[in-house]
Amino acid sequence: MKPFLLSLLVGSSLAAAEVSSVVKQELPSLVTLYKELHANPELSLHETETAACIAKELREAGLEVTENVGGHGVVGVLKNGDGPVILVRTDLDALPVKEQTGAPYASTKVVKDDLGREVSVMHACGHDIHMTSFVGTARALSKLKDQWQGTVVMIGQPAEERVLGARFMLRAGLFSKFPKPDKAIALHCSSDMAHGTVGIVEGFALANVDSVEIVVKGVGGHGSMPHLCKDPIVLASQIVLALQTIVSREVKPGDPAVVTVGSIHGGTKSNIISDEVRLQLTLRSYKKETRQQLVDSIKRIVKAQAESANMPADKMPEVLLSDDRATALYNQPELCQEVRQYIGAAIGAENVITREPVMGAEDFSEYGMTKDKVPLCMFWLGTQPPTVVAAAKEKGTPLPSLHSPYFKPVPEPSIETGVRAMTSAVIGLLKK
Ligand SMILES: [Zn+2]
Ligand SMILES: [Zn+2]
Repeated sequence: MKPFLLSLLVGSSLAAAEVSSVVKQELPSLVTLYKELHANPELSLHETETAACIAKELREAGLEVTENVGGHGVVGVLKNGDGPVILVRTDLDALPVKEQTGAPYASTKVVKDDLGREVSVMHACGHDIHMTSFVGTARALSKLKDQWQGTVVMIGQPAEERVLGARFMLRAGLFSKFPKPDKAIALHCSSDMAHGTVGIVEGFALANVDSVEIVVKGVGGHGSMPHLCKDPIVLASQIVLALQTIVSREVKPGDPAVVTVGSIHGGTKSNIISDEVRLQLTLRSYKKETRQQLVDSIKRIVKAQAESANMPADKMPEVLLSDDRATALYNQPELCQEVRQYIGAAIGAENVITREPVMGAEDFSEYGMTKDKVPLCMFWLGTQPPTVVAAAKEKGTPLPSLHSPYFKPVPEPSIETGVRAMTSAVIGLLKK
């Protein structure tokens, strides 16, 4: 082995030992913090208490903190001499899900949502594990300043679940009012990986997401007189089936894409031909061109189906694209390889697993979409008991997924690995 590489490895294993001992000291208070956050979840755009808590924690860890950056966004800056700038991100928000885990610290919170409906709230995406790992990382980096050099920008981002928060923080001047990052990293809970492990996906890791609503109009009337009506239920049914050919017949094989019609609503009674049906779709893709292709194909098919039903010009269906759009997350391969090496030195290379991309969404991607083209790496954090993961694999039964009311990460070991992995990654990227 070359002397340089040897000293690098010896250096990183020394750092790993120090990180490990700081994490051990901090773990009990981090688990307490986790349970508090878990029992007090807040919906997207309503993260008041959560943001205040994260701001307080970052301040106590010695960071310079700014609040209310793009809504409830929190920015903490830790300067430690000359060197690169690394951004570390956690998200703050929870979901309208009624928790069913039976955990003693389970959320029983009920609030009114933006439409005035009563909803239960739960950290069903594990953002509380993210926040706790993030706070642990802030504390560890502060205590281990002799191990690294540069600047760390730690951000608590609101409204991830509505894929709005990253854009809000960027628009509020995240890259101009604060040190501009050279690289950005984040972690996300995995619902099917064992705690103590980390997963890495190089390249596209999460998908473009578009929500589309199709308003199929008709000419309503008596159910016994279809010849005098234009039935939107029949037309909507034909549209649903015709849309299935986009992925199967139009998109290039091997190029991932999903078109799902998740909701269909129309009609009131058996003997009335209604005058409207609404379809709600989610579209997933990785490439920009495929994303456009899906939208174009939907518009073409919807129009052609309506024409074949002889719809009058003023009753043509509308295809509405929602603002809640997420851009695919591209994990820069070089950064992933670096992060993999540093995390591997901390938790054991055998515990860093190569994962496959999935078609969920994350607005962490937005930090890499500005003109600065900041390289990104978001890695998966295992949260489940290894025996449970092994048994599920053997039986072929899926474990409760993210967003499920039954998703239950095991706090202590998940947070411990989260802090060790994230801290080691940052120290590695900012090593002296
Ligand atoms: Zn989520
Ligand atoms: Zn999430």
